[in-house]
Amino acid sequence: MNRDIATPIRTKEILEKHGFSFKKSLGQNFLIDPNILRNIVSHAELTEKTGVIEIGPGIGALTEHLARTAGKVVAFEIDGRLLPVLEDTMSPYDNVTIINQDVLEADLNKVVEEQFSEYDDIVVVANLPYYVTTPIIMKFLLGKVPIRGMVIMMQKEVADRITASPSTKAYGSLSIAVQYYMDAEVSMIVPKTVFIPQPNVESAVLTLTKKAEPPVEVKDEDFLFAVARGSFVQRRKTLLNNLQSSLPDGKAKKEQILAAFEKIGMDPGRRGETLSIEEFGELSNALYDDFK
Ligand code: SAM
Repeated sequence: MNRDIATPIRTKEILEKHGFSFKKSLGQNFLIDPNILRNIVSHAELTEKTGVIEIGPGIGALTEHLARTAGKVVAFEIDGRLLPVLEDTMSPYDNVTIINQDVLEADLNKVVEEQFSEYDDIVVVANLPYYVTTPIIMKFLLGKVPIRGMVIMMQKEVADRITASPSTKAYGSLSIAVQYYMDAEVSMIVPKTVFIPQPNVESAVLTLTKKAEPPVEVKDEDFLFAVARGSFVQRRKTLLNNLQSSLPDGKAKKEQILAAFEKIGMDPGRRGETLSIEEFGELSNALYDDFK
């Protein structure tokens, strides 16, 4: 087996050899601890029949661990300066494809179709660039990319928001949007010291596993998420107040909103943070015909 990239010594060697300097604006914090990488990979439950999508391979620290275990790795890297580095560090592996593109611009379903038709399942594994964590996750979920799950490193605070339960401070529209599609669990808390350069915040590895069925049947998923977002605009306000200002204008709006609450027997004086996903589903279905 090759020497791990993710040690302080080898990483420094590679960076010096290629004269690479970090770009903070691209969220470049590279992992330098192979134990963390082994732990991440173990949560992804990879086999030779698994295809992996990685976002932001950097110099390949995580990529090589994935390439040793999965059938194929397709990695999106936005920074063209890393291409010659990856060509060098990934030369021992013939199952890694690098796509030099912003993952947010990519046609993910097309990539899946072209790259993974022979594989049993697809998992996203990544040490994400923290400035775009949420848009990246939502692109996979809303885009209905056929993945089994995600094992992703992010800011601990974002992982806490995604996994939060109702009536907690961290619970909000992001918890609802992700948990609608995925079971979400924090698998590991990661200290700053395992990165170079060190980020300003603590990190966590989140494991997302696709639910067989959504927790509630809704008329329109986008409308569910819009109602959820609208219900948290001002956390201290009641659902009625928040929805009155966030739903699109309509005649006799307050009455229509109250009628929807009446229909499902829900108190309009509750706060959004107390509602489960199932309750948000019921509420959005009751509001749908008047406000969509
Ligand atoms: N995987 C490497 C590791 O763990 O050491 C690097 C992780 S670093 C936190 C994030 C990586 O994502 C960087 O290589 C950065 O250039 C890349 N990146 C940033 N924004 C991106 C985007 N929108 N699309 C694809 N890659 C991106």
